[in-house]
Amino acid sequence: MIAEIIAVGSELVNGEKLDTNSQWLSRALGKLGVSVHFHTTLGDDLAENVAAFQVAKDRANLVIVTGGLGPTQDDLTREALAEATGEPLAQDEESLKAIVDFFERRGRVMTDRNRVQAMLPFGSEPLPNRVGTAPGIWMRHGDCTFACLPGVPYEMRLMFEEQVDPRLRALGAGSSVILHRVIPLFGKGEAEIESMALDLTARGRDPEVGITAHDATISFRVSTSGATEAEALARLEPTLAIIRERFGDLVLGDSESVDVPEAAVNELARTHKTLATAESCTGGLIAHQLTKIAGVSEQYLGGVVSYANHAKVAWLGVPDSLIAKHGAVSPEVAEAMAIGARTAVGADIGLSVTGVAGPGGGTAEKPVGLVYIGLADAQGASTRRLSLGAEQPRHVIQSRSAKHALNWVRLHLLKGETGR
Ligand code: AMP
Ligand code: MG
Repeated sequence: MIAEIIAVGSELVNGEKLDTNSQWLSRALGKLGVSVHFHTTLGDDLAENVAAFQVAKDRANLVIVTGGLGPTQDDLTREALAEATGEPLAQDEESLKAIVDFFERRGRVMTDRNRVQAMLPFGSEPLPNRVGTAPGIWMRHGDCTFACLPGVPYEMRLMFEEQVDPRLRALGAGSSVILHRVIPLFGKGEAEIESMALDLTARGRDPEVGITAHDATISFRVSTSGATEAEALARLEPTLAIIRERFGDLVLGDSESVDVPEAAVNELARTHKTLATAESCTGGLIAHQLTKIAGVSEQYLGGVVSYANHAKVAWLGVPDSLIAKHGAVSPEVAEAMAIGARTAVGADIGLSVTGVAGPGGGTAEKPVGLVYIGLADAQGASTRRLSLGAEQPRHVIQSRSAKHALNWVRLHLLKGETGR
């Protein structure tokens, strides 16, 4: 069964509101084993709606429409469906009674426009709405089925669960489930990672493997279907195992909710180590990312934002002379900051960042994007140099610096290597 979702509402195409219903519906359909091939979003225009419905019925067996069922003049789904299927609108007595009852129960005045909500294309079936006035519409047309649902997200979800889900199961949906798993990686670019996985990302493979990139974290998205969730998972597992094995320490974890900070904290927890931070150009971003993780106080002791030179001296004991000789953005100062953070609170590991985040302040010798990260532990301290690109905006340089720094902690603990 090929499904299409059509979200109707001018506020969805003009940027005012985000279409969240389509995402929800795609996930709900995935759980029933129905794969969604198209999302269409369009405004409140009758001719455009009719055209979209016609396109959809020719390329999908199931079309779920959300929005446009309200009582106002810009709610056109009923009319558009009637026109697209060539069936006239007729009053549905049961739906009219339900709407009249709805207003009576609430002691509110019913307008003529509410009456319009009981007009349905001939041959369709109303989908009762427990929480609002507009009934939905269920309509078979040729080998395509339309389900029109309200736009209000909670009304739509309820109607899908109570009315659409059982009808789809009666049509044979739900005999399989589509399952997705995500494996996030960090440390190489998207193209480089794909070049190592061309056998996996080839079209037509089952499980299907896709790659997405977000803020330098690259994620493999593995999908398949099975009669049950357990069967689908069993089918996914060998592919997940290949990815884990092939990409080794680039792998951050086994779910979408794990990014570099979570992965670093997992390693700290596994090895029973504590961390302290000293941040200059990231301004506390690392501390923020770590403290967003609930329960991290076992692993993260704290940190300082030592932005001015004087703060590096006063709070971390970085010698004045070191800054004078090498500059604040230097491996020497990064190292001293990491040592300072570690010793100040007695952490196992001290992590530091100092760099030029831009857009100003770059020189030929120390351009924007030059960042040093330092790591200190009981064995000593070392630094790494990052060249993040003078063309990058400040927030990207800050975010990448934080990621690389925390990733170093993760790798350091994973390999037991010091990076020196
Ligand atoms: P409607 O049923 O078109 O009158 O929409 C009613 C309300 O639901 C409006 O506030 C819409 O902005 C909201 N809405 C409609 N469609 C969507 C959608 N696809 N995603 C999120 N909200 C929506
Ligand atoms: Mg609308």
